[in-house]
Amino acid sequence: TKSEAGIVHKPVAQEVADLLQSLGVPPASWHGGTRAARSPITGEITAHVVEAEASAVSGAVARSVAAFEAWRTVPAPRRGELVRLLGEELRAHKGALGRLVTLEAGKIVSEGLGEVQEMIDICDFAVGLSRQLYGLTIASERPGHRMMETWHPVGPVGIITAFNFPVAVWSWNAALALVCGNSVLWKPSEKTPLTALAVQALFERAVAAFGGAPEGLSQLLIGGAEVGAALTDDVRVPVISATGSTRMGRIVGERVARRFGRSILELGGNNAAIVCPSADLDLTLRGIAFAAMGTAGQRCTSLRRLIVNESVYDTLVPRLAKAYASVSIGDPRDAGTLIGPLIDAEAYEGMQKALETARAAGGRIHGGERVRADAAADAYYVRPAIVELDAQIDVVKHETFAPILYVLRVGGLPEAIKLHNDVPQGLSSSIFTSDLREAETFVSAEGSDCGIANVNIGPSGAEIGGAFGGEKETGGGRESGSDAWKAYMRRATNTINYSRQLPLAQGVSFDV
Ligand code: NAD
Repeated sequence: TKSEAGIVHKPVAQEVADLLQSLGVPPASWHGGTRAARSPITGEITAHVVEAEASAVSGAVARSVAAFEAWRTVPAPRRGELVRLLGEELRAHKGALGRLVTLEAGKIVSEGLGEVQEMIDICDFAVGLSRQLYGLTIASERPGHRMMETWHPVGPVGIITAFNFPVAVWSWNAALALVCGNSVLWKPSEKTPLTALAVQALFERAVAAFGGAPEGLSQLLIGGAEVGAALTDDVRVPVISATGSTRMGRIVGERVARRFGRSILELGGNNAAIVCPSADLDLTLRGIAFAAMGTAGQRCTSLRRLIVNESVYDTLVPRLAKAYASVSIGDPRDAGTLIGPLIDAEAYEGMQKALETARAAGGRIHGGERVRADAAADAYYVRPAIVELDAQIDVVKHETFAPILYVLRVGGLPEAIKLHNDVPQGLSSSIFTSDLREAETFVSAEGSDCGIANVNIGPSGAEIGGAFGGEKETGGGRESGSDAWKAYMRRATNTINYSRQLPLAQGVSFDV
């Protein structure tokens, strides 16, 4: 098939089949199954994937428990070796897996490859971490005593993921969980089962090269919400890491809490940027463009609200509207494309509904219309939208998972920060300024209330070295770098008496 750019592509289903084969995915897992896999590029069905029944979850968890019981006794640096080998497989197959991400999630080529690079990065990080699972030693108040804390593997970790980062989110969790001595069970998004199958195949190759890993160390459970729910409710799975909408997190968080499990929730964002009078407007414009339009607005960290000081509003916003009007929208496989498709019709309808609501409230809308409907009737491409508003009305406080940027005009920084924090979500944020006082205020205790607060870069596109996650309705979880690994282990405090006395803490006496 030929795209508008005149580039000839293989038919999507053919390319998907070729990639799955080259990645070593067993054909029986994607032929003749009950779940249709679809490409948002054309809307066509590319494969029929075999699903797990919710009733099969219990058996998978039993295998996972057995794998855990063996894996937890393997020295952590040796566990790191398996993750190193996984990183090698990902390096060797980066092109094919990145391409499959493009075909299944609709990301442009460089973002598909970037997602696999992020997997490689977290594997490298986890390998180093496997020699650094440090606990503290603590001064004891009692003579002849020593205190310390030790970190132990916790058990099977359930990983539920969203469509928009179909492979990276698994690796953020799995690379850490595995070096920490846990087994993992993965319930990917029902919208992206093929990339999950491909990752599982690469993991199996790493296991074969490693030699001696327990069977069922990382298992894949393809299915819908009911499969996720069965995992969520299983008391043998002490940690559930769930990435997706706040709606899903509210259900999963409550169910896990009911059985005293631990959840790591990575939910919706409603990310803003504040533009100050001293901002470098060229840099600001580029920062906004990537954060707001990139991935067609389908990142949890996508920029959704722009809070602009009145002194630069009339310079910045028309320039931004111009960039929006000319950005290249098209087949994500074409080198010149910056904006690929929305994931499905539902995403498109959600976007149009939000725009209608904003228009009815007096919003001035630039863009937002469907494009390429003739070229791809079952696919949903849109021009990203800017909506100028006089107030932060209700629709702005909801996350619409599409490229809509609401723009608000403000006076000073206190007003900007107040507006910034006045939404239920708290994932990512940024400020554009050359004023040190403004920048420091934004990242201080009285500034942004988000888990991520940036200066002079947009809110999206995090590196793996930092802890990733957000506050309020974003769920409070932290994944990836820094000390996020602690959520995948249990902490024991040990007090050791090496004396011949038995003094009690706090001077308590109990002489029998
Ligand atoms: P979604 O909530 O529809 O689905 C996410 C996953 O949850 C899927 O695997 C789904 O099958 C599963 N699920 C749904 N209901 C469930 C239930 N009751 N029990 C167990 N599992 C259930 O989200 P989506 O549309 O795939 O992804 C988009 C959303 O994800 C956006 O809100 C986005 O902000 C969010 N997201 C957040 C982060 C983050 O790190 N904070 C990262 C990526 C995406």
